[in-house]
Amino acid sequence: MPNLLEVKQVTKKFGGVVANKDITFSFEEGNVVGLIGPNGAGKSTLFNMVSSIFPPTEGEIWFDGKRIDRLPSYKIAPLGIARTFQNLQVFKRMTVLENVMVGLHTNSKSGILSAAFKLPGAKKEEQKMYEQAWEELKFVGLEDVADVEAGNLPLGKLRLLELARALATRPKLLLLDEIAAGLNHNETAAMSDLILQVRKRGVSIFVVEHDMDLVMRVSDQIVVLDQGEKIAQGTPKEVQNDRRVIEAYLGT
Ligand code: ADP
Ligand code: MG
Repeated sequence: MPNLLEVKQVTKKFGGVVANKDITFSFEEGNVVGLIGPNGAGKSTLFNMVSSIFPPTEGEIWFDGKRIDRLPSYKIAPLGIARTFQNLQVFKRMTVLENVMVGLHTNSKSGILSAAFKLPGAKKEEQKMYEQAWEELKFVGLEDVADVEAGNLPLGKLRLLELARALATRPKLLLLDEIAAGLNHNETAAMSDLILQVRKRGVSIFVVEHDMDLVMRVSDQIVVLDQGEKIAQGTPKEVQNDRRVIEAYLGT
């Protein structure tokens, strides 16, 4: 399998803080890769660079054979990268279905304006987006609340909505930023099942997650960061038994 994502000697400095230091790893297409490490290890920083929220200070990031580390973030989604956010980004006054549709419009060729101005071709595209949105709502099990205003949903369903919105863009790579944060045990287990189902669809998934049960269950590979450095990489089993990883977590 070719590498879908390649992070090459990436360093990120914020003033005097080295948030990521010389990080290199690659990501095989079709895999789930977990990114773990203690608080402040640099996980969010790496994630934000892969989604081009800011560029690395040094190094390169390649996706699907293209260098992406200098692209503006709006060019990332059309390449096939979608993400969810730890701090939910839903429109509370819109319905669940509308929230998924918005994600598709911002990613479409003609954009939200051509639909608003009813330009030729917009109706057909609108119909296609509607079908895609509906399909993903069914996939995550939110079809019953499609017409409910998102602001009225509990956290567990909002996390599913974020997942549906990201999936509706049909990404090759899905970045999940603490998708299980605030979920209870059963909801977290259901989320693990869903992630594995997404993997079966052939989507590659990059997961930042605190819940170790979830990470260990869904990941093919795990990358461990500590104080900005990659200290280990391997299968869940390898990483769990790695002395440096255990020390990093115990803070010794
Ligand atoms: P994690 O997600 O693993 O908890 P982060 O990537 O958020 O870690 O942070 C890594 C380090 O970089 C921390 O020391 C953090 O304070 C610092 N940092 C992250 N983002 C910024 C920023 N925008 N400006 C300054 N420092 C930052
Ligand atoms: Mg973080």
